[in-house]
Amino acid sequence: MNLNEYKKAVELLNLYSYHYYVLDDPITTDEVYDRLYHEVLEYEENNKEDILKNSPSQRVGDIVSDGFIKASHLSRMWSLEDVFDSDGLQKWLIKTYKLDSNISFYCEPKYDGASLNLIYENGELTQGITRGDGSVGELITQNVKTIRSIPLAVEYKEKIEIRGEVVLYKDEFEKINHERLKKGEAVFANPRNAAAGSLRQLDSSITASRNLVFLPYGVGENTLEHKLLSQKMEYIYSLGFKKPPLRATCKNFDEIEAVYQEMNKNRDSYAMMLDGMVIKVNEIAAQIDMGYTVKNPRFSVAYKFPAVEKITTVKEIILQVGRTGAVTPVAIVEPTNIDGVIVERATLHNFDEIHRKDIRLNDKVIILRSGDVIPKIIKVLTHERDGSEVEFERPTTCPVCGSELLDEGVLLKCQNLTCEARVINSIIYFASKPCLNIDGLGSKIVEALFVSGLVKSVLDLFDLTLEKLLTLEGFKEKKAQNLLDALEKAKGCDYWRFLNSLGIEHIGEVASKTISAQFGSGFIDATKDEIVACDGVGEEMAESLLEFIRVNRGTILKLQDILKPLEPLQRQEAKENPFKGKSVVLTGSMSESRDVIKEMLEAHGAKVVSSVSKKTDFVIYGEDAGSKYDKAMDLGVECLSEDEMRKKIE
Ligand code: NAD
Repeated sequence: MNLNEYKKAVELLNLYSYHYYVLDDPITTDEVYDRLYHEVLEYEENNKEDILKNSPSQRVGDIVSDGFIKASHLSRMWSLEDVFDSDGLQKWLIKTYKLDSNISFYCEPKYDGASLNLIYENGELTQGITRGDGSVGELITQNVKTIRSIPLAVEYKEKIEIRGEVVLYKDEFEKINHERLKKGEAVFANPRNAAAGSLRQLDSSITASRNLVFLPYGVGENTLEHKLLSQKMEYIYSLGFKKPPLRATCKNFDEIEAVYQEMNKNRDSYAMMLDGMVIKVNEIAAQIDMGYTVKNPRFSVAYKFPAVEKITTVKEIILQVGRTGAVTPVAIVEPTNIDGVIVERATLHNFDEIHRKDIRLNDKVIILRSGDVIPKIIKVLTHERDGSEVEFERPTTCPVCGSELLDEGVLLKCQNLTCEARVINSIIYFASKPCLNIDGLGSKIVEALFVSGLVKSVLDLFDLTLEKLLTLEGFKEKKAQNLLDALEKAKGCDYWRFLNSLGIEHIGEVASKTISAQFGSGFIDATKDEIVACDGVGEEMAESLLEFIRVNRGTILKLQDILKPLEPLQRQEAKENPFKGKSVVLTGSMSESRDVIKEMLEAHGAKVVSSVSKKTDFVIYGEDAGSKYDKAMDLGVECLSEDEMRKKIE
């Protein structure tokens, strides 16, 4: 890097920062930003006389935007030095041990959200201020007061600044984006930007509706006398603040590395997004001695996790036809390694989304892959276009069967019931877990059965024989027999599984259970009024069910005859217990998979539903319970830990 390149790099970093901090709408990935930033740091290290005043190394990141009143922090807020691998950590430790060799470390998550400083005076929350430029931030007290994990009063009466990160839990983020998609609004790029944007709303009722969460990570001005940071933090949590999902005190490199590995391994299972682990010297006296650089404390470092956002190129947009005929576009991208997984496809949600984001073939885009969710395109880098990009045309015919598509605006639909894609996907759904749960009948085998002509509808599955299966490539006697056994096992299933497996639009697992419990096989003759009278079943669902029965009565009866599903009354009536007949919601991670717990509760006569409302009787929470827990508290719904639930059952 020469002086000219250095100046350009600083300019570019400032442009990136403006989009990131002020507009909450980044135009590049953190990885690209960090790489360039570190090149700038290296140049500055060797050319101290050239350092520009507006270099990002000279100030804490955010730029204070207009719109809010500004307010000063009582003591400065800082950024963090970062390292990206164990070598970097090793170097940081050597540097820090040189300042003081007699130290230990406090490790906690690095939350990916927006910083916030809370000032309490006489035990009352008086100000909430964004980090801003470190000295001055935006005064957003009204918005902050809507965040339920921020106590409005604490028992500590001295003046104190409590610092932390405001985040949006991942499930809440997905929910908000889902709702925005339905309303035809632009989706948020990631939970961080959604949290930062929600926090800085001029209308605090918008902030209130977003279910933000505050996680404390330190104190600013304070008169606490603890000798260790770990003690100080325990005290802060005891004032009514949320604890991190994992925290540890460590003596040396090996212990820090072990906590880091554990946190990184579990990062997907935490409710909030983390982008690394923060390591802080635990002894407060040593922290004070070490002090600060222009930008960072010398006593702490962020040990970043591998990036979950990468830049790649859209090579192709393909269309998938689901069992209901809905046509969804999927982007095929230049294969990219994201945290050890090669990503080649990304969901595009729907055609409006392609249009709104203006995604074109050959576009450079940012994709996000976090946890088990399907990778998605969160941003098009329009400023990198070179003219080779091609717009994508909205299809008018089904890519599989060629029939004309029904254009419903957001959704495009193939209406041909015999369309190969629809049939294959219906069979896959029929055999899937929440339906008949037929082992060994995954998508590849269903496709092979369909293409060979052996199975053209779910009914044909039950005409399969050993001989027929042995004609298929890759089928030996054992595999064929296993499949036949699995099909046999599906007979005599619970009635709701049978109903759910029919794949009726708008009738999912919960509705199938309700309707089955009410009517059993009598559902086929139920009237609209009777159906709507079921708890949680609306008009649209009833109409969809009746229409399905009208068109498919023959098939339903034939299938019922083959499967002989158990009438609900044939099931043993659950014994009296506190959950019988109650509506229950599960949230957070439990000692066993949530499916197992759900089945157990259902066996006790509970109805397990997915969202909390006034009608919910109990919310049962595990570790890192998310917004459902907060909502339950808000509505006054009784919340039980997993242990409490088990005790009640016993
Ligand atoms: P930072 O976000 O990396 O680290 C400091 C911040 O971390 C603190 O202010 C605090 O809010 C937060 N934090 C979370 N958990 C914490 C904990 N346990 N203890 C202490 N602090 C904790 O630093 P920064 O100065 O805000 O910005 C740099 C980061 O922003 C980089 O990661 C960079 O990639 C990203 N960035 C990205 C772009 C982009 O365009 N993609 C632009 C600018 C900055």
